[in-house]
Amino acid sequence: MDVPLSNSELDRYHRQIMISGWGEEGQLLLKSAKVVVVGLGGLGCPVSLYLAAAGVGNLVLVDKETFELSNLNRQVLGWEKDIGRHKVEVAREKLNGFNPAISVTEKITEVTMHNVDNIIDGATVVVDALDNWDTRFIVNDACVRSKIPFVHAGIIGLSGQITTIIPGEGPCLKCIIPEEPEPVTTFPVLGATPGLFGTLQVIETLKLITGIGETLKGRLIYFDGEFMDFDSVEIGRNPNCPTCSSL
Ligand SMILES: [Zn+2]
Repeated sequence: MDVPLSNSELDRYHRQIMISGWGEEGQLLLKSAKVVVVGLGGLGCPVSLYLAAAGVGNLVLVDKETFELSNLNRQVLGWEKDIGRHKVEVAREKLNGFNPAISVTEKITEVTMHNVDNIIDGATVVVDALDNWDTRFIVNDACVRSKIPFVHAGIIGLSGQITTIIPGEGPCLKCIIPEEPEPVTTFPVLGATPGLFGTLQVIETLKLITGIGETLKGRLIYFDGEFMDFDSVEIGRNPNCPTCSSL
């Protein structure tokens, strides 16, 4: 690493630099990393906030929507005064104030099969903070094509699931969920559920960048908040997966 951490960076990140295996080297890896957060809803808000807190140097936030009153029970970067404004614009302003040393790029767009490769280009990690399977599979396919690690989470009500996809090493989203689930436009969500899963996604992302610990590659965690059950299930690659079998 060429440029060492400044005194203020050493101070700001002191308590995480203390983590075993993290150190200044890990912090420098975060500083030079680029994380693309696809979706700035219930998951994307805590994801981008905690990535900024940790000092990920380059964040790309992707969402085409504006804040509505009904988002505010879970999309914690959107406050009443922000209703009607683009989510990624509001998030960029707040994250810049929170940690001015990091770069936040906003992309006000819907992710499609035509723009996805451009959106994730050069990413160290992509975070799936989406609310629909159609777009998730587009992002999954692009991450497999570009061999970029992809941290998936999905939530509903008081429940959620999370796994990490390392293309060519573990199963991709299509291996795990071969048939696209029926689209649902409005589903119940308690804000604390994406709060929990968003922060789990950040832990996975930071581990992928720093190389510490073990990721959820080949494993899916399912959480049922009604009964406070965490289940961890092994998941394998599908040798005939249309998306990743050629890797
Ligand atoms: Zn696959």
